[in-house]
Amino acid sequence: MKQSSSSLRTSDLNGMQKHRRITIERLEKYLQNGQFSDVNLHATLVKERNQEAVNLQVFSVPNGRRIPFADAIQGSYQPTQVGESFGPTWSTHWFKVTITIPESYAGQAVVFIFDPSCEALVWSTKGQLLIGITGDKNVDRHVDYRLTKSAKGGEQFELYVEVACNGMFGAGIGGNGSINPPEEDRYYRLTTAEIIVPNTDAFDLLWDMEVLLGMVKELPENTQASCDALYTANQIVNTVFHDDLSSIKKAKEISREFFEKRSHTGYSQHVVTAIGNCHIDTAWLWPYDETKRKAARSWSTQVFRLMENYPEYVFTASQAQQFEWTEQLYPELFERIKEHAKTGNFIPIGVAQTWVEMDCNLPSGEAFCRQFLYGQRYFEEKFGERCTVFWLPDTFGYVLLLLPGLKYFFTQKLSWNNINKFPHTTFMWTGLDGTSVLTHFSPADTYTAQASVRDVVFAVHNNKDKPYSNQSLLVYGNGDGGGGPLIPMIERLRRMQNVEGLPATVKFGSPNTFYEELEQTSRDLVSWKGELYFELHRGTYTSQALTKKYNRQTELLLRDIEILSSLCVATGVSDFKYPKTELDRLWKLVLLNQFHDVLPGSSIEIVYHDALKFYADVVESGTKLRNEALEALIGRQRTSTKGPATVFNPTSWTRPRQVIELDTETANVDVSILQQTSADGRKALVILEEVPAYALKTVQMGYKPSDFVPVTGISTVVKFDTSSGEKTIVENAFIKVVFNQHGRIESLYDKKEGRETIAPQYLANVFKLYEDIPLYWDAWDVEVYHLEKGGEVAPGTLSVAETGPLRAVLKVSQPITKQSKLVQTIIVTATSSMVEFDTWVDWHENRRILKVEFPVDIANDFATYETQFGFIRRPTHYNNSWDMARFEVCGHKFVDYSEHGYGVTLLNDCKYGFAVHGNVIRMSLLRSPKAPDLHCDMGEHRFRYALYPHRGGFNESNVVQAGYEFNVPLLIRSVSSTFSASIETQFFTVDTSNVVLDTIKQAEDAKDKDIVLRLYEAYGGRGRARVKSTLPIKKAFLCNILEDVTEEVKRDDEGALLLEYTPFKVLSIRIAVD
Ligand SMILES: [Zn+2]
Repeated sequence: MKQSSSSLRTSDLNGMQKHRRITIERLEKYLQNGQFSDVNLHATLVKERNQEAVNLQVFSVPNGRRIPFADAIQGSYQPTQVGESFGPTWSTHWFKVTITIPESYAGQAVVFIFDPSCEALVWSTKGQLLIGITGDKNVDRHVDYRLTKSAKGGEQFELYVEVACNGMFGAGIGGNGSINPPEEDRYYRLTTAEIIVPNTDAFDLLWDMEVLLGMVKELPENTQASCDALYTANQIVNTVFHDDLSSIKKAKEISREFFEKRSHTGYSQHVVTAIGNCHIDTAWLWPYDETKRKAARSWSTQVFRLMENYPEYVFTASQAQQFEWTEQLYPELFERIKEHAKTGNFIPIGVAQTWVEMDCNLPSGEAFCRQFLYGQRYFEEKFGERCTVFWLPDTFGYVLLLLPGLKYFFTQKLSWNNINKFPHTTFMWTGLDGTSVLTHFSPADTYTAQASVRDVVFAVHNNKDKPYSNQSLLVYGNGDGGGGPLIPMIERLRRMQNVEGLPATVKFGSPNTFYEELEQTSRDLVSWKGELYFELHRGTYTSQALTKKYNRQTELLLRDIEILSSLCVATGVSDFKYPKTELDRLWKLVLLNQFHDVLPGSSIEIVYHDALKFYADVVESGTKLRNEALEALIGRQRTSTKGPATVFNPTSWTRPRQVIELDTETANVDVSILQQTSADGRKALVILEEVPAYALKTVQMGYKPSDFVPVTGISTVVKFDTSSGEKTIVENAFIKVVFNQHGRIESLYDKKEGRETIAPQYLANVFKLYEDIPLYWDAWDVEVYHLEKGGEVAPGTLSVAETGPLRAVLKVSQPITKQSKLVQTIIVTATSSMVEFDTWVDWHENRRILKVEFPVDIANDFATYETQFGFIRRPTHYNNSWDMARFEVCGHKFVDYSEHGYGVTLLNDCKYGFAVHGNVIRMSLLRSPKAPDLHCDMGEHRFRYALYPHRGGFNESNVVQAGYEFNVPLLIRSVSSTFSASIETQFFTVDTSNVVLDTIKQAEDAKDKDIVLRLYEAYGGRGRARVKSTLPIKKAFLCNILEDVTEEVKRDDEGALLLEYTPFKVLSIRIAVD
């Protein structure tokens, strides 16, 4: 052997026996950065290192503001140095960096290393983004920017670095990755600012060695490939001398020979397609504004560094909102992304169907459609194509309706299930409406894979559908901001492309091509019907109650505005312009807040400051729009003269007779003919006769139906009986309710059906408090054992607040604990079988959950929960682990518990967490997690719910309608009206009770008076519906949610639209009005 220049050389004793385990540990030590890195392979990575060449100045932006580059360079810069610390949390510090390259570096590559222990972004002096930085010591660390491939020597470089005082996972107390609330005054130390000359051969060898060691450890010990890799790697260690860099080339020759010998082509046992990504949560442990910079940091690294150097590299990013931010704030970066989109390296199309990666449990059906509409339209406009893959790697369960046009679906989140292991990797997922989508769960069980041998081997082993498909997706790259794939990941994948002995060939690819290939090569895929329930994060149906309340409220407010505005346009109201721009703006705010860490309640406190600000904007601006459109539709501007009120029914069925409230201040109320006013005198109570679907109707003061019991003394329709001890009895024509002195319901007797609805020996409307300490994810999880520890709160006190012929109002003052209390108003009106509960809570608890329970006299194996444009039936028993795992589930406006012929529904106006177990309907009201928001849900809350006993099982009931009616009241305006009862204008009617006309909006690219209707089948039936309209409809076409027109809709002789429907079908129709 040729003598090395090192004082050491490879031993002649190389023929001695090697001990496998000790040799493996030797290899690990040889590759580790830390102990021994002054003498192992890491000692060879850097040829030169120089801190003196770097001159630093800093400008700390006052008041924690995030400012544009043009403003930043105007700042006043002060000298600074390595070792200084910068803060507090969320503040920004701009560094001006001047680097002088030593003469001796001529001809060599020079790299700038800058580690501020937090996130940063490197800029040129001209304001171009260069690269993102993630400092500190974690796996996602990347702190280097290459200044030149070949230095001249003596030249100068100038740069700016925008340092953001937060880590990749925010600034949680306890360090990186902690979900605790942020530490508000954390300072970050600038640990490194220097230039180096890297030894590229040594880096090359390091990545070879990582793959070799991976093969040794991850392949079965008795395989030739594992043994060969071990032998080769050990030989390399024996060959490299850190003080003789020429030895690297010799070692590289050994690894080259290994990979060359084992390279193979042709049919492989399995194919792993590797897709680079950086999952950027749109807000989470940092605010929305920081996400804008996180996108810039991550994506600049992709386009300016990785794509420049690795032509085969493919990166994918989702969420139209992040692209729009980048377009607005970093236009140059956006242009480069568009260029790389054309070459197929940067794939926004393909994965970003929606506006944000939204939660899928809580948004309404229409909000769900709008996520796709705004997302797809954005990508089509900017990138010329639509996406085919619905990409939701991190969302907490999927109860979505499957929308037309959705071809492929991707997630991996169900691998986090904490009870049952999901049995499939590649399968057909069949939704409520019976349509199917090709689904793949990345079998590496992560969307932040490190692209190691272990990831590839595990993906193949964990793929549960190998009989049906030999394809797996590996989604790699660090998430959340400064991250994304790092160079070593790409280098490792390059080496693993064709290595005989690995269980798969590896290739770089895009989501679209992966799914297309999957579609072509798979066979006999199994089907999974219905909900993809996520067995974790069940607390996210309840945490951050106010956000959830605003979500429901704003979804329905936007619905009202669109209906009223469309009708104004379609009926030719003069001077009325459809508020398209403003509606787009408001919808985007609502959709943004549906991001999968915001609406579910799992973000830090400052995120909710932003979210609530956005909601307040939507409510204020939206209420104004709704009022304007309603007044325009009624046809007269509001005058100072008081007139009788007019109502509008914003639903597609006749609203039943009901008691409404009129404001005595603004409405022209003739007090002399009033039957009742509210206890405070501010509201006049009036009986309103039926209001037809989508119609205006004038309120008639003093109206009394002929079958109404006259208002005389004790024989009021709603009567009180306090004679039976301390019980209070409220009775109307439909029900008789018995309350005990604490406000609990002892009996709810249905007079029409002659049956009791409350379970014998039980009380209903009972508040229960349970200990709510999850295993780790505080705001996210309520765990199965919480029901083991807790019970009924202390008794409340019932009083009578209002009596009269039209309604009775009771009040319950209810202590919860020493520090929390509740006041409930219970309302029974003369016209309904419903008991309404309007609840105010002052809440100051720690890891406790408040629920209300209704034990009912119903028995069925299943209960029905509303979801987007449909319902889900879930078991009421816990026979097996899959049933038991659903001990807390998501529902929307109602949960219904019915048996043959009869049922009881619990309606709500803003709650989403439920359970029906045995005979108990249970609704979660408030939680009190302390992380990541220390003050989550502390303070005052108000919410409404109602118990609604009904004739008929769920399918024969009007429960869906009742859910709407509880949430979408008649719109009342105290203005004069030109409509009289005899000429009610009924804009739309649907003749089938199970088909709901939910949405009426202007067509997106509306010319003239084109509007879009969205209907859905709500009860699981099939047939033909007739949609009639008083509007002069010229033409009507079926379309999809993106409003692509397909076929013309058939009409009957009267011009009514004839629609064929099947269970849960969502129908969109575009109509042109004359
Ligand atoms: Zn996420």
